[in-house]
Amino acid sequence: MGFKTDIEIAQESEMQSIKEIAKKAGIDEEYLEQYGNYKAKIDYKLLKESDAENGKLVLVTAINPTPAGEGKTTTTIGLADALQRLDKNTMVALREPSLGPVFGVKGGAAGGGYAQVVPMEDINLHFTGDFHAIGAANNLLAAMIDNHVFHGNELNIDTKNITWKRCVDMNDRQLRNIVDGLGGKSNGEPREDGYDITVASEIMAALCLAEDLTDLKERLSRLVIGYTYGKRTEQKQVTAGDLHAEGAMCALLKDALKPNLVQTLEHVPAIVHGGPFANIAHGCNSVIATRMALKLGDYCITEAGFGADLGAEKFLDIKCRQTGLKPNAVVLVATVRALKYNGGVSKDDLGIENLEALKKGLPNLMKHVNNIKNVYHLPCVVAINAFPTDTRAELSLIEEECKKVGANAVLSEVWAKGGEGGIRLAEEVIKLCEEDNSGFTYSYDLDGSIEDRLNQIVQNIYGGKRAVLTAAAQKQAEQLERLGYGKYPVCVAKTQYSLTDDETKLGAPKDFDVTVRELKISAGAGFIVALTGKIMTMPGLPKRPAAEKIDVDENGKIVGLF
Ligand code: ADP
Ligand code: MG
Repeated sequence: MGFKTDIEIAQESEMQSIKEIAKKAGIDEEYLEQYGNYKAKIDYKLLKESDAENGKLVLVTAINPTPAGEGKTTTTIGLADALQRLDKNTMVALREPSLGPVFGVKGGAAGGGYAQVVPMEDINLHFTGDFHAIGAANNLLAAMIDNHVFHGNELNIDTKNITWKRCVDMNDRQLRNIVDGLGGKSNGEPREDGYDITVASEIMAALCLAEDLTDLKERLSRLVIGYTYGKRTEQKQVTAGDLHAEGAMCALLKDALKPNLVQTLEHVPAIVHGGPFANIAHGCNSVIATRMALKLGDYCITEAGFGADLGAEKFLDIKCRQTGLKPNAVVLVATVRALKYNGGVSKDDLGIENLEALKKGLPNLMKHVNNIKNVYHLPCVVAINAFPTDTRAELSLIEEECKKVGANAVLSEVWAKGGEGGIRLAEEVIKLCEEDNSGFTYSYDLDGSIEDRLNQIVQNIYGGKRAVLTAAAQKQAEQLERLGYGKYPVCVAKTQYSLTDDETKLGAPKDFDVTVRELKISAGAGFIVALTGKIMTMPGLPKRPAAEKIDVDENGKIVGLF
């Protein structure tokens, strides 16, 4: 269609030196650790030593998406560029991309079109090595567990009940289930094991929720790696602290905990740091990054992964609850494509005008608007992320339908036009940030049982009847209560395509149950993971992975990333 690719646009842009970006953000050079000319880490001391007031916090989330993503990152970046055009001192806070999706279906995660963060090749590939550090810390613990067993197993770890897995930042289904320790007595104890993708490691979640190095070390020591031999009612949890692993793990992570500074195409300072999964973890950038962006900017624009039922729910119920942060406004990204997808159109036909299907998909948007406004009591605007394939009639239909229910919907053209395409959205966001957000409430409280908490999420956020725990999950709930983990918030791992636990039920279904098949403690992160449906912690590559199109020339110039 003659559009430039994301990487072409990114490579044509002229970046400013990271020193200049830091200066613009008000970061003193003593806090800046440069990684080349266009990337830097920011020392966490800045947070302790700054007495700046917090700016306004704006959360970007979305309706239930299509498999290609709906443009939350693109909108986040474009909105920040637009605010800068309106002379607002703005910061972006985003997650770091994982190599899994980069080489798989989705491609990179540094925005798109004229709303990107750069250098996009670096951000999408190794960046500043944070994920490698997290993988190393994860695998150090794994090695220490098996080594402990090998040398006599003083802690009485049940080798059939080791829950800690190894990890690698790659979509590699071959490693999901493995047998290791083969080759005779001197080569370890044979056992079933497996790999997760690094972004699914609990260390990623713990790092992203940690307030500082001391807090991180405490979280690492609480990581549950498995259970002792014995009857279920007598088993005890074994932690990384029991293995004395937390110090060395934290040493590996000391730089990974420092937020990374880059820039948008329009030179807005962007902090890109941490990237936990939005299903088995909470799906947003690090707490330290958000806090820094709030200190440095009058506006901090941040994103939560997947749709609002997963990413925003966890941002608000887990991250905000833990930190006391409170968004001033929520931007709900919707696309004609995703609404048609929710109206039953298949992925390949999304480019064809279909008002009927669009209308059928709209209740999905309305449900999310209603959740933000009437469950969380936060000011909310719908950003319609305009795609080249959208028709005028389709765009108008969304605006009209939103008006009917009293929600403002603003067309956002940041993908095609950069900040200039987001001025109306930015103006609306500025207005919302002046509104009262003191009514902010969580969607569930922590008083009751684990099941109570799950029921509240299903009823308040998904619009269903109740959470049904399988017999196995019920036993796990009892065990978690017995082991002292009963009062943690819950992190639901669920398909991102549906408000239910069944990815084929699109739109805004009613009268459904959500089946919870497993409950797992993430004591280092500080939540209970509730697994529904088929949730994968080690994805696979598609038949034609994006990796086949990626290349590099003799000068080191990369092509084919998107
Ligand atoms: P999300 O953060 O919701 O997963 P992204 O912002 O990463 O979504 O966008 C996903 C993909 O869609 C990217 O490749 C991006 O370039 C593309 N994209 C986003 N918005 C648009 C748009 N308005 N028109 C065309 N492509 C878009
Ligand atoms: Mg994104």
